[in-house]
Amino acid sequence: TDAVLEIRGLNVDYGLGDEAVHAIRDVDLTLHRGEVLGLAGESGSGKSTLAYGLTRLLPPPGVITSGEVLYHTDGGAPVDVLRMTHAELRKFRWAETAIVFQGAMNSLNPVHRISTQLTDVIQAHDPGGSKAARLARARELLNLVGISADRLDSYPHQLSGGMRQRVMIGMALALEPKVVIMDEPTTALDVVVQRQILRQLVELRERLGFSVVFITHDLSLLVEFSDRIAIMYGGRIVEEANSAELYRNPLHPYSHGLLNSFPALRGPKRELTGIPGSPPDLRAMPSGCAFHPRCPHAMERCGVEVPVLGVPRDHEGPDRTVACLLHPVHDNGL
Ligand code: ATP
Ligand code: MG
Repeated sequence: TDAVLEIRGLNVDYGLGDEAVHAIRDVDLTLHRGEVLGLAGESGSGKSTLAYGLTRLLPPPGVITSGEVLYHTDGGAPVDVLRMTHAELRKFRWAETAIVFQGAMNSLNPVHRISTQLTDVIQAHDPGGSKAARLARARELLNLVGISADRLDSYPHQLSGGMRQRVMIGMALALEPKVVIMDEPTTALDVVVQRQILRQLVELRERLGFSVVFITHDLSLLVEFSDRIAIMYGGRIVEEANSAELYRNPLHPYSHGLLNSFPALRGPKRELTGIPGSPPDLRAMPSGCAFHPRCPHAMERCGVEVPVLGVPRDHEGPDRTVACLLHPVHDNGL
C-alpha cells in the first residue's frame, strides 16, 4: 500500500528554553492508504501530542521544533503540513484529515440541536448548497454512524456518551476526508461501547476508503481492529508491527507489558500482570532507554545507550521495527 501521511523526524516541546519538556522525540511514522493504524501507550506517552502536532493544532506552549509531515495528495507531489499556510491548513483539516479529539463528545454545543451542529459544519465548507441538501446530508451522516434520523432534533444531553461520540464521527466524515484521526477518551466510554464504535469506524473505512489513526491506551482493543500498531513510550515510538505479529510476539518488553495490562477481547487469554512502576517524568527522563528502570530485562547498557528504532535482525518481517537493545537492528533499518 502507498503512503497517505509520512511523519519524519518529528520533535515537539512544551515550553521554551530551560522550561521546555521534550514530549515527542524523533518520531517517524507512516500511515498507508486505507489502513487502520493504532497508536498505543500509557498516559503521558505523547499520543495526543503527536496527533495535535501532525495536524498543527498543538495548544500553547506546544512547539514543533523539527520534522516534516508529508501529506500525499492524489496525483500531486507530497505537501509538508508543517509548511502549509493558514488557508491551506483550514482546507486540509476538514477536507483531507479530520480529527475526533479526546473528550470531543463533550464538545457538542449543549444549546443546539444535533441537526444544527451537523448542518453548520456542512455549510462552513460548502456555503453554496441549499438548506434542504444540508439536512439530507446530515441525515445521511447520522445513518452512516448508526443513529436513526429522528435523533436530528435531539439536544446533546438527550444522547448517550456513545451516541455523542458517533455524532462526532459523523461530523468528521462530513467532507469525506482521506484520513480520520480518533483520540479515544480513556475513561469516558466503557470498553463495550468503545469496541462498537471502533468496529463501526472500521466498517466505514472499508466502504468509504479512508485511513484511520486510532489512539488508545488499551492495546487489546487495537489488536482486534487495527492493521498495524505503533507503541509509544516517553515520546518515542518503541515498536511498530502488524497487529497480529505484535500480539503473537511483542519484541519490546514495554509492548509485552502493555499487552498483559488489558484483558484480551478475543483469542487466547493472557495473565494480567501489568507493568510495575509508572511512566517517566518528562522533566527527569531516565538516561539511555527511557523504559530501563521498569524493564524486567534491563542490562547495564540500557541505562547508557538510547536504542534506535530499526528493523530487528532476529525478526525480519515486513515493516516491523523495534527500539530495544535486546533486539539489534540493521544499520540501514529504516
Ligand atoms: P493520555 O493517554 O493521558 O491521553 P497521551 O499519550 O495523549 O496521554 P499527551 O497528552 O500527548 O499524552 O502528553 C504527553 C506529555 O506532554 C505528558 O508528559 C504531558 O504531561 C505533557 N504535556 C501535555 N500537554 C502539555 C502542556 N500543555 N504543557 C506542558 N506539558 C504538557
Ligand atoms: Mg491523550
